[in-house]
Amino acid sequence: MPITIVVATHNAKKAAELHRILEQMHLDAHVLTLSDFPGSPEPAETESSFEGNALLKARSASAFTGHVAIADDSGLCVNALNGMPGILSARWSGAQTDIDLANLELVLAQIRDVPDVRRGAQFVCAMAAVFPDGREFTVRGVMEGHLNRAPIGENGFGYDPIFIPDGYDQTSAQLSPEAKDAISHRGQALGELVAVLQSELA
Ligand code: IMP
Repeated sequence: MPITIVVATHNAKKAAELHRILEQMHLDAHVLTLSDFPGSPEPAETESSFEGNALLKARSASAFTGHVAIADDSGLCVNALNGMPGILSARWSGAQTDIDLANLELVLAQIRDVPDVRRGAQFVCAMAAVFPDGREFTVRGVMEGHLNRAPIGENGFGYDPIFIPDGYDQTSAQLSPEAKDAISHRGQALGELVAVLQSELA
């Protein structure tokens, strides 16, 4: 019988991306999101690491729903900014509207004078799984690349239009969703997490 797994996010684009990757991995699971559980709390991301924040969200979702819950916390770490925006990626600019565009424009302005050879960056994704019996697991995926000087591409979300993955000459917003999944921090982390779930559920 398939197990129910709750993806602890209200972000529709992120949920769709996770759904798509989980389907490709053929995990025998019935996947729901927090949108299927009205009134579910949205805990503040108060931890100082990606793993800490992912655990906090997965614990909250598992406690509320009574199911296995998985959550991710991700962000862009820019070498020339000492790893920032990092865990603050989603709210880096503080803008209230068009936040993705405002965030990437702020990062571009902050590294405007940084030469091409020092524009390295990584997308990082930590994923946590929390079982109702208290078992907890975290894994991490990283996608290395560098930042372009202007946004290009319509796919993806967030900082994708300025991020060029290593080995590519296009931004991750120019890649098809499937091509991005195959190399992305989220795809890698989810692959590892599915392996953990498969062995824990065996
Ligand atoms: P979270 O929802 O707290 O994990 O915040 C993640 C933030 O990091 C997003 O709002 C984006 O700004 C950025 N981010 C994470 N993963 C990606 C990605 O795959 N593409 C572009 N931006 C990303």
